[in-house]
Amino acid sequence: MAKQKPKGNSKSKPKTKNYVRNKNQRPSSWIFWVIGIIAIGIVFLLFVGNFGNKDDSNGGASIDYKNQPYLGEESADVKVLEFGDYKCPVCKNFNETLFPEIEKDLIQTGKIKFYFINYPFINVDSRRSAQFAETVYSELGNDSFWKFHELLYKKQPADQEAEKQDIFTVDFLVKTLAEATSNKDAQKVKKAFNQSNHDEDVKKDEALVSKLGVQSTPTLFVNGKRFEGSTYGDLKKQVEEASKGKN
Ligand code: CA
Repeated sequence: MAKQKPKGNSKSKPKTKNYVRNKNQRPSSWIFWVIGIIAIGIVFLLFVGNFGNKDDSNGGASIDYKNQPYLGEESADVKVLEFGDYKCPVCKNFNETLFPEIEKDLIQTGKIKFYFINYPFINVDSRRSAQFAETVYSELGNDSFWKFHELLYKKQPADQEAEKQDIFTVDFLVKTLAEATSNKDAQKVKKAFNQSNHDEDVKKDEALVSKLGVQSTPTLFVNGKRFEGSTYGDLKKQVEEASKGKN
């Protein structure tokens, strides 16, 4: 998805495109051929074996939501997934502009459950933040996870140079968690994190990234179908359609 303002508004923000993996590196020609052969093999498997779950099928991809943090009522029949990176400036922008509308209009009204899935690729502290957030979820539960999640995006520096720097250190993450919850909780998570960084949970999220073919952040899915729109209105429409489609 791209978070563009409705057409006709010339004051568009600079960061309206999704954050995509940097593809500046030029592979040497043999790598090109190897990748080409692998790609042909994958395409063959997709055709022959009905391999992988395409999200553009009629029913949407089947997704395992178990043990993933979410906001909203258990009874909500539409599930919205956000794939994000804590270092991603567009995700921060999403959190501060589009998300409040989603929360007020769709989550608090019981229409959707909103999930967050890690897709950490920007820097080394993307992964550390994802691991730490998984530890928060495991140790303190859903509510504390979301408090931490929100505050971490809030504390992401506006300066884009920060993307290239390792700023979300363990100390910074522990301090942020203490601000979001309590010092006692933060120390508990710090101890747990030092024993196990929950990378297996991040890998589980990344398996979903691969399965659904996600390549940028933030990317949203509604009941397993990729959101291709750009405005809140587009999302609301897709949620309503998903809700109607459920018999
Ligand atoms: Ca997760």
